[in-house]
Amino acid sequence: MNIHEFQAKQLFAQFGIPVPIGREIKTLLAAEKWAAKLNAPVYVVKAQIHAGGRGKAGGVKLTKNGAEVPALAKELLGRTLVTHQTGPKGRKVRRLLIEEGAGIAKELYLSLLLDRDSGWPVFIASTEGGMEIEEVAAKSPEKVLKEPIDPAVGYQGYNGRNLAYGLGLPALEPTIMGPFITMLGNLYRLFMEKNASLIEINPLVITQDKKLMALDGKVSIDDNALFKHPDFQAMRDLHEEEPLEIEATNNNLNYVKLDGNIGCMVNGAGLAMATMDVIKLAGSEPANFLDVGGGATKETVAAGFRILLKDRNVKGIFINIFGGIVRCERIAHGVIESAKEVAIKIPVVVRLQGTNAEEGRKLLQESGLKIEAATDLWEAAQKIVALTGKKRKKVEATAS
Ligand code: GDP
Ligand code: MN
Repeated sequence: MNIHEFQAKQLFAQFGIPVPIGREIKTLLAAEKWAAKLNAPVYVVKAQIHAGGRGKAGGVKLTKNGAEVPALAKELLGRTLVTHQTGPKGRKVRRLLIEEGAGIAKELYLSLLLDRDSGWPVFIASTEGGMEIEEVAAKSPEKVLKEPIDPAVGYQGYNGRNLAYGLGLPALEPTIMGPFITMLGNLYRLFMEKNASLIEINPLVITQDKKLMALDGKVSIDDNALFKHPDFQAMRDLHEEEPLEIEATNNNLNYVKLDGNIGCMVNGAGLAMATMDVIKLAGSEPANFLDVGGGATKETVAAGFRILLKDRNVKGIFINIFGGIVRCERIAHGVIESAKEVAIKIPVVVRLQGTNAEEGRKLLQESGLKIEAATDLWEAAQKIVALTGKKRKKVEATAS
């Protein structure tokens, strides 16, 4: 789960990581009142969306005049912001963070994330703050420093010194060494206590009055640990999530929306991946990943069907079920019942294999519904692709 910048900064503050004074704002009136109260030399008005690249997209505004804050807030609130991370549709700005601006002497990059290869948390730091770290890594990899932390002993002072010297802090600003090393310890504590998978501060700045400050903040929490942190439930912003994915989560389904036109419903993640591959091999693109689980029931199948049919890109549905724990005739019942509930105007191919597959296929054939039953995976994939028409994206044709 991702949270907003203002929420990340609240967490930073709780863990002793310095942040600017600021407040979440949802209305123009609140913006006006807060600006008057804040009374700062510089004001920063920032769009709160779950995407980076806001600065370049015009989502971060600065002014020295508090009276201009409401006008800046008006420009951003309700506007759709398109950044390189939002995709072309962009994100609607519903909240702002209005804070005291900092005088920047130096921008650094700092993050802490889980390195999946070693299984250890690793700090990543760079003197090239404010830039995309991927870009720095591509152009000048020597400027990206890494400091892995052995979770058995936790963060140690020498880890901090390694990074501080690596960044050249003693030459840059020697008084910042101590606060920097302390700050890394606090970040590590936050990371572990809140079960984060990523904390990114870009930029982490040294201000003109020689203080460290997190000017931006991104925190991702491991979904599997959310049950331990009821406080995060309140931080969830459903506007920032794919509506179909929310519905899937509510029905205990693993669903990821993609851009193809063949909706697929499969039991088991491995089979779901194979199904997506086979759809591609047959010349089309999957509209989603959907794993209804090894113990799929009539109800989960019905919920999956509803979700697939709500996706306007879906021009055909491919249901691929292996009856190991589940029984195929139950799945067939689920398909038939939900197909009766919603008028299906698109082709559906169902491949059933395993326990009671024959019985399931018979039910489908006798249902009177326009559902094609199949036994073989390759045959089924070719069938659904033939019924929906090949729609492979023509990359060569659009490139100019
Ligand atoms: P992002 O573009 O979505 O990553 O948003 P950021 O929070 O990183 O803001 C973009 C840029 O705005 C930063 O890299 C800074 O250069 C600038 N910025 C943000 N806050 C301040 C501030 O308080 N003072 C000054 N001078 N610049 C700021
Ligand atoms: Mn940033």
